[in-house]
Parts: sequence; structure tokens; C-alpha cells
Amino acid sequence: MDFRSATAQVFVPDGLPPEAALTRTTHLGISAHQDDLEIMAMDGILKCFQREDRWFTGVVVTNGAGSPRANRYAQFTDEQMQVVRIKEQKKAATVGEYAAQVFLGYSSAAVKDKANHDPVEDLARVIQMAGPDVIYTHNLADKHPTHVAVAARVIEAIRGLPEADRPHQLYGCEVWRDLDWMIDQDKVAFDLSAQENLQFALLGVFDSQISGGKRYDLATMGRRRAHATYHASHDTDVTSGMSFAMDLTPLIQDPSKDVLAYVQEFIDRFAQDVHQRLSDVL
Ligand SMILES: [Zn+2]
Repeated sequence: MDFRSATAQVFVPDGLPPEAALTRTTHLGISAHQDDLEIMAMDGILKCFQREDRWFTGVVVTNGAGSPRANRYAQFTDEQMQVVRIKEQKKAATVGEYAAQVFLGYSSAAVKDKANHDPVEDLARVIQMAGPDVIYTHNLADKHPTHVAVAARVIEAIRGLPEADRPHQLYGCEVWRDLDWMIDQDKVAFDLSAQENLQFALLGVFDSQISGGKRYDLATMGRRRAHATYHASHDTDVTSGMSFAMDLTPLIQDPSKDVLAYVQEFIDRFAQDVHQRLSDVL
């Protein structure tokens, strides 16, 4: 496939040619780093697991060069870290039976550089070829600058596509900073009660991150459990795992909608909620 990024690659677990693998995609996850997909897009991964009619494809935008390292990986160079992290993401794609796993291989700086249009063009190409119904990416209130940049680039890429090529849904998901703060009416709640074993397996293959002393596997499963318990107003079945997303679909339905103002609306509704509950009792 022809990407702007010279280091881009496509991994297909079941060996189909890349273009055929991509075009079957129904659910697309686009993250900044290796392992973000398994933290934030589990809804799509589970919906497509063991299905012939639904396929999850993952896209990792950066090369993972700047990731922290400890223990077994302490002496690894940036180049060695990139190799390890790609290997881990391929393992996840195999375990999770993804349609394809795309690595765009950009540096974090390139993704954050507003003047660099290459990441947007590569994302547009993947999205157009995959033609997903749903896209999961980072939420716009995440506290990791590269995560926020990826979300912004995804919105830009989708907005540049003909209307017929845009997904029906765009969700901004949780990694660095969860979305429990949003008022309940604003939350998109994904039920992640199913296949906890598979969820643990998918989070667990990222050994280079977890061995560094960051138990993303336990923390992520713990957050899913906590959300399920504390999301009291959930009006369907009782769940044992849940993750939240910010609905970003209005931003791609109306490309003229101001992104900053849109996020501010969520923050304002949260502020009003806090103010109202407190002023009621003071
Ligand atoms: Zn990340």
C-alpha cells in the first residue's frame, strides 16, 4: 500500500492481501501508541471477535520510539523498542483476530505538527479503504498531548473525505484520563462484560509496557469494573465491565462545527451539574 510514511506497514493475521484485508473492516480503532487500542477500543474488538460479518482493524499512528523502559527492556535503544512494540501489537492483532493492523510509524512530533499533513493524508487513505461504520479514537479531553493530536488528525482526515466515505459513528475513548466526569447523558457507555479472559490476554501481551512497572492490564480491567459499578444510572442490564466514550460524531457530520467549542460544551455541562448539586444543599 502506498503511504506517505516511509515506515508504514500493514500486518494481516490471517494472511489476506492488505487491501482485501482492510476493505472488510467494519470497526476501526485509531490510536497514538501500541496498546492504546486494547485499552480504548475493546468494544469494537469484542464485537468483531469470531465473526465473519464484522471485522476490527487497528491503526497505530506513532512508532513507539519514546516509550519508557525498565527491567528486561532497560538497555533497549529507541530502535529496539520500536521493534518490540510492533511485535507486541502484532501479537494482539493475532489474539484478537483483527482484520488488519496498520502501523503508520510517525514520530510523536510529526503527529503534533499542525503543518505536517502527511499523517492526515495517510489516515484518510486507511479510512477510505477500510470504509468502517464505526471509528474509535482518543477523546478530546485526554491529557496525553499525542493522544489529543491523533484525535484531531482523525477528525481532520474524516472531514476531508466525501460524505459517503465517512463513518456513521466516531467515538473518543478513554486512556489517559477517563470520562467518568462527563454527565451521564453525555456518556456513550460500552458494555464490556463479555470475555474478560480475552480482554486480559489482549492487555497482557504488551510486556514491554507492563514490565516497566505500569500495570496497564490490571488498571484497565479495574477501571472497567469501577465504571460498571459506579455508573448507577445505566438503564440496561447490570454489567461487570464498562468503558465510556465521548460522541464525536457531530464533528464529522458537520465539518464546520468548532472542535474546541464542542469539547467545551461537555465541560460546561459537567460544571453546571456540580454547581447545581452543590447549590441545592448550600
Ligand atoms: Zn498512548
